[in-house]
Amino acid sequence: MTDYPLDAPHNDSPAQPAPALQLHEVVRTYRSGADELHVLRNAELALWPGQSVALIAPSGAGKSTLLHLAGLLERPDAGEIYMGDMPTAHMDDAQRTRLRRLEIGFVYQFHHLLPEFTAQENVMMPQLIRGLSMEVAQSRASELLGYLGLGERLLHRPAELSGGEQQRVAIARAVANSPRILLADEPTGNLDPKTADLVFGALTQIVRATGLAALVATHNLELASRMDRRVTLRDGLIVELD
Ligand code: ADP
Repeated sequence: MTDYPLDAPHNDSPAQPAPALQLHEVVRTYRSGADELHVLRNAELALWPGQSVALIAPSGAGKSTLLHLAGLLERPDAGEIYMGDMPTAHMDDAQRTRLRRLEIGFVYQFHHLLPEFTAQENVMMPQLIRGLSMEVAQSRASELLGYLGLGERLLHRPAELSGGEQQRVAIARAVANSPRILLADEPTGNLDPKTADLVFGALTQIVRATGLAALVATHNLELASRMDRRVTLRDGLIVELD
């Protein structure tokens, strides 16, 4: 896999690390009856470790489709999606699910926390599913929540937290298993501007601290301007902005 897209950092050394995520000639077409909707046509994208990329495009352009493909929730009709050096298109569902659990964190517009569990338990959950011990999961959850300014809220249930706090717990949960990639779909779309700013700050802080790669769909141009790169979808292609 040597044909990195043009936006890849220039480096001829074979020791150059692979992108955290790479989409190569990805095609996705929806069919209904005789109609075909070409959402992605040979889309190319490389996300590098430690890099946050804003995905800015109008409704219906294909942002969710792209995030679902990147998150291995959907399969491309053609092309390849690499996680690190690993091609995923040929994988069966069990392999894809395993890779998703280990390598990908998701943050949505609504937090989707489990209401009957505390903040700490919500962040422990993906770690327990992965097979880590209670002690390890609890300690990692406390550390992450503390890092995101929620050290005093560990034992609060979601209903006892503000919208911004809930969303920070969702971010902590998404990165609890140290994924390679963080995918976020309008993570601040449901928050007032000041809270959105705070939550966004938490997200970029985590990206820089952990070296994961983030792809964040957002309509908030001010927040997008603070990310490392901005891309959009145009005629089924992923296009760099700026
Ligand atoms: P966005 O997230 O940017 O709003 P989507 O990825 O949800 O865009 O959708 C892109 C286009 O594909 C839209 O026109 C949408 O109606 C269509 N679409 C999305 N999912 C399906 C599907 N499962 N079947 C048919 N068309 C779909």
